[in-house]
Amino acid sequence: MADDPKQQQKQHRSTASVPQREAMMRMNYLYQAAWVLVSQNQVQLSQFYIRTMKSISQKLVIKLDPTIKRTICKSCDALQVPGITCTHRIRVRPQRHVVIKCLMCKTYKKFFTKDYDGSSTIANS
Ligand SMILES: [Zn+2]
Repeated sequence: MADDPKQQQKQHRSTASVPQREAMMRMNYLYQAAWVLVSQNQVQLSQFYIRTMKSISQKLVIKLDPTIKRTICKSCDALQVPGITCTHRIRVRPQRHVVIKCLMCKTYKKFFTKDYDGSSTIANS
C-alpha cells in the first residue's frame, strides 16, 4: 500500500520528524562500535569513540538516554563492562545502592536502588 498518498505523507513525516537524524545515527554507530571494541580489549579506541559521541551530543544539544549514560564513565569515557573495565558492588547502608568502580581511572559512581517497599527511585549521585 505504498501507492496510497496518505501513507506516503505519513512515512515522509515520520522520517522528517526526527531532527538531527544523521547525528543520532552516527552516535548510535559510535556507541555500538565502542561495545565491539571493548569486547576485543581495545579500550582506548572505544574511549575515543565514546568521547566523539559525547562531543556530538554536546554540540547539537542531543540528550543521551540515562541507560546509555550509566554505561559510560564520566571522567575517562570508558564503557562500564563488569569484569573488564569496572566492578559492581552492592551496598546496603545507609541505603541500598550499587557502587560502580571504573578500573581505568578509579572513579566511583553510586546508583540508589529501590527499597523493598518500592518507594524510592533510582537516582544518580
Ligand atoms: Zn573511568
